[in-house]
Amino acid sequence: MEYMTPNFTKDMVKTHKILIPNMAVTQFRLMQAALASEGYQTEVLGNCGSEVAQLGLKYVHNDTCYPALLVIGQFLDALNSGKYDLEHTALLITQTGGGCRASNYIKLLRKALVKAGYGNIPVASLNFSGLEKGSGLPLTVPLLRKVIASIFYGDMLVALRSQTHAYENHKGDADAMTEKWIATIQGWIRDDKNYSAHDMKKRFYDIAADYATIPITRVPKVKVGVVGEIYVKYSPLGNNDLEKFLESQDCEVNLPGLMGFVNYCVANYKLDIDLYGGNKLIAGGADAFLSWLDGIGCASYDAMRKYGFYAPGSFRELMKKPEGIISLGAKMGEGWLLTAEMIELVEGGYSNIVCAQPFGCLPNHIVGKGMINKIRALHPDANITPVDYDPSATRVNQENRIKLMLAVAREKLDNPTAPKPLTAEELAGGAPQVETTVQ
Ligand code: SF4
Repeated sequence: MEYMTPNFTKDMVKTHKILIPNMAVTQFRLMQAALASEGYQTEVLGNCGSEVAQLGLKYVHNDTCYPALLVIGQFLDALNSGKYDLEHTALLITQTGGGCRASNYIKLLRKALVKAGYGNIPVASLNFSGLEKGSGLPLTVPLLRKVIASIFYGDMLVALRSQTHAYENHKGDADAMTEKWIATIQGWIRDDKNYSAHDMKKRFYDIAADYATIPITRVPKVKVGVVGEIYVKYSPLGNNDLEKFLESQDCEVNLPGLMGFVNYCVANYKLDIDLYGGNKLIAGGADAFLSWLDGIGCASYDAMRKYGFYAPGSFRELMKKPEGIISLGAKMGEGWLLTAEMIELVEGGYSNIVCAQPFGCLPNHIVGKGMINKIRALHPDANITPVDYDPSATRVNQENRIKLMLAVAREKLDNPTAPKPLTAEELAGGAPQVETTVQ
């Protein structure tokens, strides 16, 4: 049985407030300004807590992906709150268009809405794959460019904040700087400026220079990278505030940028056509678009390096990292990108990694946990811990597990010795296995 809710139409842009589930907090705050500048009234949801997961569990089968369960629970919790005029509220959900279940969350959301008595609430889809034509958010070129700029700027602010926050002399400086730049960039976007590639490439230097004025003392600290399924990697609701927890443990945290996932989706257009055939013009167009995006990303990295911050290599370089480990044809979930990000982090000095995965997420267990032994064979210093997230996994178990990883990291920081590479037997399956379930 198909559960239907009204389509989101162009007229609703003026009359409806669109609720957006929270994920990458900084980038989404900037995107909200991009949507506002094009006439949309939006609110990025901040409601969290166990009741969100419980509501999700009530209306979504517990076998369903944890991100779907949380996003749907967060929407229902917001609608139940009484804060919104239900005649003029719509919901926005993304669809990746890939082969995984994320493309179908929208159907689960509609079913949950009907069952919960909210069958009149329109659902808009944000996707770049031509899905849900009747209910897609109308994407204009200016809006698309502003959204892209929001992600680039947001990624840069997150990276600069993390690298400053861990070493700042005066607590709160990095956060205050980030708030200042979020407000500034929101103003730019609202005023239709500084979102072209040309302007962004200049502004990146202003931003990096400003962060470099924060007084810091660089002392050796445990550096931790976070990779994983896109929702639990970024969403504080999905990962039980992982970034804050790591910071509370006196770590420098590296959360690879959201643009990596956008680039990965664009790159996959060409990879699909190379592997399975298709329109070469589309492949060429996607490749040219990827080069354009990569050029902007590299400019932000150059600006960061100029002012003494760490920055990763280009996306084209990132695509070479999984060579000999996993095929670029592995494109379910976060696919080869997840493996590539782990390698890049290790090579960049962030050898301690939390791989955040929804429990039961098969694709990311393959490209995440499944690649750990191979990565350790090439990089014996890699200290990677997969952590599963689902409604029954307790925060304390997850944090204890991460603390174990940090204990190893601290020991290495105090006594740096070259770890031995894995033996052939270990590689063949005898390597120390890491428990997945965190019950
Ligand atoms: S990647 Fe994992 S969590 Fe995401 S849709 Fe696929 S199975 Fe679900």
